[in-house]
Amino acid sequence: MDKATLTRVLDDIHRAAMLAEDRGKVADYIPELARIDPGKFAMSICLPDGSQYSVGDAQVEFSIQSVSKLFTLAIALGRYGDRFWDRVGREPSTFVFNSVQELEARQGIPPNPFVNAGAIVTTDSLLVGAQPKETLAEILQFVRLAASDESIFMDPSVAQSEKRTGHRNWSLAYFLRACSNLHHDCELTLGTYFHQCAIAMTCEQLARCGRFLAGFHPTGGLISPAHVRSINALMMTCGHYDGSGEFAYRVGIPSKSGVGGGILAVLPGKASIAVWSPGLDAHGNSLLGTVALEHLSNALGLSVFSLGSDR
Ligand code: GLU
Repeated sequence: MDKATLTRVLDDIHRAAMLAEDRGKVADYIPELARIDPGKFAMSICLPDGSQYSVGDAQVEFSIQSVSKLFTLAIALGRYGDRFWDRVGREPSTFVFNSVQELEARQGIPPNPFVNAGAIVTTDSLLVGAQPKETLAEILQFVRLAASDESIFMDPSVAQSEKRTGHRNWSLAYFLRACSNLHHDCELTLGTYFHQCAIAMTCEQLARCGRFLAGFHPTGGLISPAHVRSINALMMTCGHYDGSGEFAYRVGIPSKSGVGGGILAVLPGKASIAVWSPGLDAHGNSLLGTVALEHLSNALGLSVFSLGSDR
C-alpha cells in the first residue's frame, strides 16, 4: 500500500466527513450513548509493517458495543470449536439486529453470532464454569492482548444505562431461555453481555485490536487460522446486520459495526481499519463510517471483490 496515497486519501476522507450534513442518528435507546457528540469522526489504519495512520478524533474513547461480539466469538470458538454452532447459526439476518420475530421464526436458534440474540448466546456459553467477573476478565484480557494495550476498560455507566433500558435484550434473553438456548439466568448473562458491550476504546486501539484477524498481530496467532477465516467470513456476510449485503456491495471488506458508531474492518495480510462516527443509519450501522470505508475501498481498490482496476 503506497503510504503517500494512503495519507492523502485519509485526509480527503476526514475533510469530507467534517463537511457532511447528514450524519445519521446517534443511538438513543441507551441513554449514555444518546449524549455523544455526532460531530465526532476518526479513522485509523494499521499495516503489517507495524505502521499506523490516523485522522480526526482517533484518540477519543467511545463505546465499542457490538464490535465486542468479535472477541467473544473468538474466545467461544477457541473453547468449543464446531460444537459452538449447535446453538447459533451462520446465516445473515432478515430483520433488525434486536428482532424478537427473527428469533421466534428460528425457534430460538439465532441466525448468527453478531445479531444481539446470537451474541447473548455466545456470552452465555462463556459463562459455563465461571462467574461473570471471571468471564469479563477473560474478555478484557483478550481485548488488551489484541490491542497490545493494558489500559482498555469497561465503562460501568454505559453497562448500567443499558441494563435499565435494554428492554429488547431482556425479551430476547427470556425467549432464548424459553427455548432452552440460554443456560444461565437472564440477569447473569445479560449483566455480562451489557458490560462486554460497554468496553471503551479509541479508534487507534480498535484498529490495533483487528490485527489478529488481519494476520499480523505482533505476538502471533491469538486464535487459530481456521477460526480467523470463520470470523472474517461471518463479518462479510453478517457484520452489518440486515444491511450486510449493502455493505458488502459498497465496501467489500469483512467488517463489524456497533451502535456506538464504530466499525472494525479487516483485510487479511493487508490492513486493520477502524472508523468511528456516532450517527447511525436505519440498520444501526455508522452512517459516515460506512461512507468513509466506501471511499477508502474505492480509492485504494481494497474491496475483496475488486480486480484493483475498477475505478
Ligand atoms: N449493546 C447493544 C445492544 O445490545 C449492542 C448493539 C449493537 O452495537 O449493535 O443493543
